[in-house]
Amino acid sequence: MISVVIPLFNEEDNLKLLHEKLTNVLTTLNQSYQIIFVDDGSTDGSAAILAELFEHDTTVQVIHFRRNFGKTAALTAGFRYSRGDIIITMDADLQDDPSEIPAMLAKLNEGYDLVAAWRHQRQDPLDKTWPSQLFNRAVSFFSGLPLHDFNCGFKIYRRVVTEQIPLYSDFHRFVPVLAAGQGFRVTELAVQHHPRQFGVSKYGLERTIRGLLDFINVLFMTTYLKHPLRLFGSSGLLMFALGSFIELYLASLWFLREWFMVTVGPIGTRPLFTVGILAMILGIQLVSTGLLGEMLRYFTFQPEQEYSINKILQRGE
Ligand code: UDP
Ligand code: MG
Repeated sequence: MISVVIPLFNEEDNLKLLHEKLTNVLTTLNQSYQIIFVDDGSTDGSAAILAELFEHDTTVQVIHFRRNFGKTAALTAGFRYSRGDIIITMDADLQDDPSEIPAMLAKLNEGYDLVAAWRHQRQDPLDKTWPSQLFNRAVSFFSGLPLHDFNCGFKIYRRVVTEQIPLYSDFHRFVPVLAAGQGFRVTELAVQHHPRQFGVSKYGLERTIRGLLDFINVLFMTTYLKHPLRLFGSSGLLMFALGSFIELYLASLWFLREWFMVTVGPIGTRPLFTVGILAMILGIQLVSTGLLGEMLRYFTFQPEQEYSINKILQRGE
């Protein structure tokens, strides 16, 4: 079974057309399917239209949030209530084209666990595409995952992916990174993208900034979460060593003057003195941060999160 999960927030003018286009495509697949609309606290006429769709189409399921919780939360709820082995997520604003679904499914069946749509000719205003492109380059570079478009809401997953990757914070755009980090096979497919016809975009520039901070978080979680002391401790030790070396040097100057009457100026007023002390304090702080990180990790440690099993060959009892 295929589950299509659609998060939406005030999309009244798009829903009917989306449902129609989607149904046209899904019925050609000869596979059972369900369409799950997750209404993220819409305040326009979306609820009434969803009620109508639910009334006339038995494949439709609707989840209404009490208020606006954000797209990530909507996706999480959609995953939780879906039953398909394959899950498709797409935006409700008709910018993603349902006619791409068969091609994306075919790509998935080449042996992937996640296929992300790549809007290679993205139809959005420049103030959105440009920061997004920068963001994509940075994420791709630092994560080592060669995708072009992380922000697109159009993706196809095998169910295991949605079950194993918890969507924390605004992490929906990092699922490919997190999934690849778990060893899932992730790829992309270039798709058509349309300009928004009805309704308004729910996001602005602040999303890029939030996305960047989230990315630092993701990088940390995927690469260093397991060894916080190694990350903070190594730079901390280095700092501390540097600071100690500087202070030792200054101290030896002091002894040279006091004991051997060598002429050197006062050391307490030298900038190097302050730099040395700063480096030592910073070093101690970095090591303590690493230790705190280890402590948190120790107390929240869950052995089954240390690996991701693909399959097990095993004889029955
Ligand atoms: N959306 C949502 N909750 C929110 C904001 C947006 O469910 O708080 C939905 C929105 O209705 C749309 C999708 O997320 O289906 C993508 O939003 P939008 O089209 O505004 O983003 P853009 O395409 O402009 O990046
Ligand atoms: Mg959109």
